[in-house]
Amino acid sequence: MINLVRVKNPMPEQAPQTRIQNFEEVCQGYTEDMAVREAMRCLRCRTKPCMNKGCPTHVHIPDFIAKVAEGDFEAAYEIIRETSCLSPVCSRVCPHENQCEGSCVHGIKGQPVAIGSLERFVSDWHAAHHPEEIAEIVPTAPSGHKAAVIGAGPAGISCAGDLADKGVDVTVYETLDVAGGILTYGIPAFRLPKDIVEREIDKLKAKGVKFVTGSSVGKDCTIDDLMKKEGFESVFIGTGAEVPTSMHVPGEELPGVYTANDFLMKINVGKAYLPENEGLLPHADKIVIVGGGNVAMDAARCAIRMGASSVTIVYRRSREEMPACDAEINEAMAEQIAFHYLTNPVAIKAGPDGRVNKIECLRMELGEPDASGRRRPVPIEGSNFEMDVDCVVMAIGTKMDSAVTGTTPDLATDKYGCIVTDENAATSRPGIFAGGDDVTGPLTVVKAMKAGRTAAASMYAYMSGQ
Ligand SMILES: Cc1cc2nc3c(=O)[nH]c(=O)nc-3n(C[C@H](O)[C@H](O)[C@H](O)COP(=O)(O)OP(=O)(O)OC[C@H]3O[C@@H](n4cnc5c(N)ncnc54)[C@H](O)[C@@H]3O)c2cc1C
Ligand code: SF4
Repeated sequence: MINLVRVKNPMPEQAPQTRIQNFEEVCQGYTEDMAVREAMRCLRCRTKPCMNKGCPTHVHIPDFIAKVAEGDFEAAYEIIRETSCLSPVCSRVCPHENQCEGSCVHGIKGQPVAIGSLERFVSDWHAAHHPEEIAEIVPTAPSGHKAAVIGAGPAGISCAGDLADKGVDVTVYETLDVAGGILTYGIPAFRLPKDIVEREIDKLKAKGVKFVTGSSVGKDCTIDDLMKKEGFESVFIGTGAEVPTSMHVPGEELPGVYTANDFLMKINVGKAYLPENEGLLPHADKIVIVGGGNVAMDAARCAIRMGASSVTIVYRRSREEMPACDAEINEAMAEQIAFHYLTNPVAIKAGPDGRVNKIECLRMELGEPDASGRRRPVPIEGSNFEMDVDCVVMAIGTKMDSAVTGTTPDLATDKYGCIVTDENAATSRPGIFAGGDDVTGPLTVVKAMKAGRTAAASMYAYMSGQ
């Protein structure tokens, strides 16, 4: 029976005043009853816009939701798994409002079906009911092929998993000491608990994938070394786009000014919030975050959890142009984070101790649209003002690193330094494939996962001479 309620069954979550004091997951997940009730809102549309138009990986959304409505949660999981290899992750971090839920017909007159929350429920239900799953994984019989994956982010791990399923001997090279890419060091635990990412990595290890962490390709070795000396027949490049861009304002180098990557890394990987790691990130009371994307929201929400008494986001355009998801902005507002729109830093200043203690900003107004289609921020002359700060986090974007592209002759890149590929993820160098943020520029987890899987299929075809 269809449930005609026009609003989503709300997801239980920690109250703002409680959650800003911990790094535990904010959303707490549907119960079985809630999931079944929500699944019964699905109209089983014949044209399946959620799946065909909304979902980048075309998960069979109405079919899995139908199984949830029947109470057959394992069957629902099997349906999701046909197309998504990272469902516990994607169900938590995908921008559903712009993807599947943005295309759901229920959204026309009410709220869309809570597709993300249902996918999350199904993935978590499966994990909770199969604690032995990893121990029971049997690696696929060897195919005789050997491939290397550079970068252990969502693109790399998805590629490695699919190759291992085909019996390929896979080694993943990762610069950091931990695997997972941004899933591990960038997205905070209150949105994506780290044991979920670790479980996905453990599944790969059980399938026979080898991880060489602390090894940077382009510095410690080159792709040509891997292919000629180590005998890898094919290589996937999934190195992301992680080099922070600079605003080039005076004072960006002062102690107490961080890039968002560095700040998030200290919290997510270094666990700077634990008493035993005190000193990794000196306590700050007044923190300004510069930027308007999801990375800025993550940094601000971490900052408030680190005990700051005031956290302010400074963004040069208005709320309307802000690239962060509505859900993230709303969560940040509920956590008492202040927003200064139409404001741009022009200088960061030091106090007598040499550490940052003020940020000088200019008010802006919106002019004509620029190349991005968004209205250009124009400074209002003479509107300068200062704010007291003891920490500034710059979250204004990232770009490609050239360590791999600069050491791989004849690998074509575009004007932004991104790797050029065809629709099969093949680069200009035979046997070398690429996907994820290093091809598209910073995008999303689901698109990186899809690119990794496309590349794995192409690499297998290449290695087996198809
Ligand atoms: C703070 C933050 C929050 C985000 N939130 C979301 C979200 O909620 N939802 C969403 O969909 N997307 C989000 N994104 C974007 C998303 O995380 C990325 O689009 C996605 O992780 C890209 O995957 P990737 O595998 O291409 O690269 P990455 O995740 O960046 O992984 C690349 C890996 O390659 C490694 N590497 C780099 N160079 C080398 C080298 N030379 N040798 C060996 N290893 C190397 C890196 O250390 C890294 O581990 C967020 C991004 C950030 C920064
Ligand atoms: S568009 Fe919405 S209502 Fe229609 S099948 Fe998809 S989830 Fe169900």
